[in-house]
Amino acid sequence: MNSQQRQGDRVKMLLEDAARRLGDAGIDAPRRNAEWLLCEALGTSRAGLYAASGDRVDPGAVRRFDEMLARRLRREPAQYILGYAEFMGLRVVVTPDVLIPRPETEELVEAALACLPADRPAVALDAGTGSGCIALAIRAARPDVRTHACDASEAALAVARRNGAARGLAVTWIAADMLREDFAQRVPYGLDLLISNPPYVPEEEMATLPEEVRDWEPRAALAAPGDPLVFYRALARHGLRMIRPGGWIALETHADYGEAARSLLATAGYADVSLRKDMAERDRIVLGRRM
Ligand code: GLN
Repeated sequence: MNSQQRQGDRVKMLLEDAARRLGDAGIDAPRRNAEWLLCEALGTSRAGLYAASGDRVDPGAVRRFDEMLARRLRREPAQYILGYAEFMGLRVVVTPDVLIPRPETEELVEAALACLPADRPAVALDAGTGSGCIALAIRAARPDVRTHACDASEAALAVARRNGAARGLAVTWIAADMLREDFAQRVPYGLDLLISNPPYVPEEEMATLPEEVRDWEPRAALAAPGDPLVFYRALARHGLRMIRPGGWIALETHADYGEAARSLLATAGYADVSLRKDMAERDRIVLGRRM
């Protein structure tokens, strides 16, 4: 191996070269993406990466890094390449069978946690749980809350179960489709909280999503076919039977449909209905109370 090749295999060079290639390919936050992948290839942290900046990288790690970089250049999301995402301080396994947890959804969980009674055990259901991130975050924050989570996708539930087991968090995982009439027979009643981040992307908007989302994340977790509020109507209806009086419904919304979701809950008979914005100042969370 000549000295030039050796130079190219140093941490700093690999990082800079990868960041440039990702940037040239039009990928967002190229430096951060390059760091994530190189940390994974080297089994180190970001601090470790910079501490080792001038070190040579062994050929095995270079190969692992090149493979991951090639996947990212094909627009596969970094979280699927790494196999995990971070959600409310929890490391959550993700595969293309589940939506990658978003920071906005952490805000939904924070809002919902504030609605739970502080002084007695409560019961919660996360509808359309995907990776299980919402249910797991609730259980982690409030180990006294009996937490249930359902999904229509068996493949998603397998990922969620794996996450529950890995984190040692007791959640009851249920196969149930909120759009089917038998939903109500499969899930618990007397809820203090019904929470969901349902699919809400209108069909015509699907084509405009970033390639990472459109081509890699599960369509069934994103698209609301036909009626963009189809899942909100179902949840509002189920909630009237499943939530105990005084309990809450907490839903993430599309930024353009927050007002529609708010008025849907109010019309359905929920009280104290409010619409909240996310950190980016977009309508994102709708809350209501069953009287
Ligand atoms: N927030 C997701 C996105 O940006 C959509 C999630 C959903 O449909 N619930 O695409």
